[in-house]
Amino acid sequence: MEIVRSQRKPSIDASPTPTLSLYRSAPPLEVRLEDFELYAIDRLRVLKGISDGLARGKKPEEMENLVRELWKTNMRHQDPAEVMNKDIISHFVLRLVYCRTEELRKWFLSMETTLFRYRFRLESLESQRMLMTEFQLPYKALIHAEYETVKDKLVQVARSIGQSSNTDTIFFKVPFEEVPDLVGSRRVFILKGFAYVPMNQVVSLVVTQFRSNISKALVLTNRKWTSTIKEQEKDRLTPIVEALSNSYLGPDYTQPNESAEISLKDIDQLASNSFPLCMRHLFDKLREDHHLKHGGRIQLNLFLKGVGLKLDDALAFWKEEFSKKVGAERFDKEYAYSIRHNYGKEGKRTDYTPFACQKIISSTPSVGDHHGCPYRHFSEENLRAALNKMGVGGRQQDEVMDKVRNRHYQLACTLTFEAIHGTSCDTGINHPNQYFSNSQKIRQEKIQATT
Ligand code: SF4
Repeated sequence: MEIVRSQRKPSIDASPTPTLSLYRSAPPLEVRLEDFELYAIDRLRVLKGISDGLARGKKPEEMENLVRELWKTNMRHQDPAEVMNKDIISHFVLRLVYCRTEELRKWFLSMETTLFRYRFRLESLESQRMLMTEFQLPYKALIHAEYETVKDKLVQVARSIGQSSNTDTIFFKVPFEEVPDLVGSRRVFILKGFAYVPMNQVVSLVVTQFRSNISKALVLTNRKWTSTIKEQEKDRLTPIVEALSNSYLGPDYTQPNESAEISLKDIDQLASNSFPLCMRHLFDKLREDHHLKHGGRIQLNLFLKGVGLKLDDALAFWKEEFSKKVGAERFDKEYAYSIRHNYGKEGKRTDYTPFACQKIISSTPSVGDHHGCPYRHFSEENLRAALNKMGVGGRQQDEVMDKVRNRHYQLACTLTFEAIHGTSCDTGINHPNQYFSNSQKIRQEKIQATT
């Protein structure tokens, strides 16, 4: 795959292609640098949506609908002939992004495999057979004589899982260890170490093969990345690749909505009603200790800027607290500059963006720091106490803790949001400022409904 800066050549392949690719090798396509990044972001939206659906425990039928919707929304292209290219290019870009650590590889492999599984199920029978041939799976369809000897057992298994015992179905005889999910869920008949897999369950065979191919490819890509690509592409692709694995896919909340200005007199009320736990913790600590270290100051200050606190109010707010600890003069000398700096009024005058969850979750607070994400950085005891303080207890609290144990921190935050506001948050929480604006919206609607 060659990356170019400008003009895109037409797709090299004008012949009809299957809709589902096996991603065996990088395509000989020229890709504009902009598309390189944009396609990857679109695919990332699909994979993140899948990850969210799995973490929420969606059933297979719900996952099938979710995958179909995610694919339709994010992977379309104004030129239908380009959809296949977008699929392949985005996969190979994300392979580069996610080959770099064991943890990234594991996540990517799991999401791509799930995506493949559901896309395969959406293919016609004809295409499914073509894909099996393309995989060169060494399994032969069961011959009639052998089928007759096990027919009754096959019918029994089909009935036990609520499927029609269609005697026209083709069966494949495969070593049972190659279809662990079918064996685990007792969906196949097993005899002498072989599983008898009907055509409608063949997805398991293909997925096992797909997973194994991608897993090996990720290890190889990682070797190439470390030995050559990273250095060769250090001015062009490397910065994009490094940013993509940490990328946040929603609005940046640099500027609050026109209507979303907040005033100092309301700030305590807003903190207790609508701040997510990370910001509420910083806010409470600032009120309590009259001080926050650098990481906490920047995380909270940018959040406050994003929710609509004007610079003058921000300065007054920080000064009121810090003065109690270090005195007004020292605040003006040592701390006011960085508050103004976050608002783009000092230094390079960059308008800094409020931090998204991913950035906060991946921060590494030291002793005495209060920034970071409480779902990731608090002990279980402290997190339970904080949730109790927010009015989230009992079963709801246990569900939150369950997500935390499985390292789904944003989902834990989403469940907290849902418990507090008594309504579902289907988009999930991806940004503290999104938490705030969703919360405010719900509260305003409730007020309007009662007046
Ligand atoms: Fe804050 Fe995001 Fe963590 Fe929620 S998930 S506490 S919004 S960093």
